[in-house]
Amino acid sequence: MTSISFEFFPPKSEAAGEKLWKAIGRLAPLRPDFVSVTYGAGGSTRDRTHQCVKRIIDETDLKPAAHLTCVAASKTDVDSVVDDYAAAGVQHIVALRGDMPDMGAFQPHAEGYDGSVALVAALAKRGGFDITVSAYPEKHPESASLDADIDLLKAKIDAGATRAITQFVFDTEAHLRFRDRLAAAGITIPVIAGIMPTTNFAGAKRMAEACGAHVPQWLADAYEGLEEDADTRKHIAASVAIDQCRKLIDEGFENLHFYTLNQADLTFAVCRILKLGAAAY
Ligand code: FAD
Repeated sequence: MTSISFEFFPPKSEAAGEKLWKAIGRLAPLRPDFVSVTYGAGGSTRDRTHQCVKRIIDETDLKPAAHLTCVAASKTDVDSVVDDYAAAGVQHIVALRGDMPDMGAFQPHAEGYDGSVALVAALAKRGGFDITVSAYPEKHPESASLDADIDLLKAKIDAGATRAITQFVFDTEAHLRFRDRLAAAGITIPVIAGIMPTTNFAGAKRMAEACGAHVPQWLADAYEGLEEDADTRKHIAASVAIDQCRKLIDEGFENLHFYTLNQADLTFAVCRILKLGAAAY
């Protein structure tokens, strides 16, 4: 049985909060393995991430995973976020290095953790958390090679990570190739395939460019000229995401993570048609 998980981001405004809680309400009956809440670049959503995770704990029976980055922060600051998470009842952290606030080249904070491996090690030493990390099927943009990325993933596992979630990819073959590379490297922890169903192709393309995800020509062609045609984009997005998930399930992938962008419709449709999650169909 394929397990599912959903990513949300902390809302910036009351209206955005309403939208998020509507999405959570719609997706919660699917009983995902966990739902994760992102931590804004450079720690910019520290309080909002905390509030969002706390509300999930207080008002739902979902299991939240709180994201945490160590960029641009001292160890003391990061540790105090961890203490706050623990006090709120968080038991699962997605531990990341993060990007510099100006998106420039990474510079460790003088008194901070020098990267994701050090952060994972500190969390493991502290204890009490399930630790998830990132993985990059198409290579992190800063990485010298996919092998270097896989070595880094191994180091994160050796430091205490028990699960990884991949960056989203549009080219499903990249998920398959990565799965095979990880197996060849002896990595046995669950590596959850990241899926981003989205109707906003222009936005998704920008995100893909920023994080080094390849946008296949067939996908760009499918959206070509549909900038003003949201209805057709929605049908295409659902079809693309369903095809991708079906292929991954057929290939034996046991865990899928949906980057929901705080919108339930597409993810809900994909889960319904593929009978993912626990809702009565
Ligand atoms: P790592 O996996 O630690 O490293 C990424 C790359 O950095 C490596 O491939 C390598 O090129 C380089 N690198 C790191 N350490 C070394 C070293 N010791 N020597 C040489 N090279 C090194 N960002 C946020 O701001 N907030 C979030 O909530 C968030 N959530 C995410 C969730 C997932 C599932 C993913 C995949 C990404 C997320 N990101 C988030 C983005 C992430 O912060 C960026 O991709 C960032 O650039 C890398 O952080 P990382 O922990 O993935 O890096």
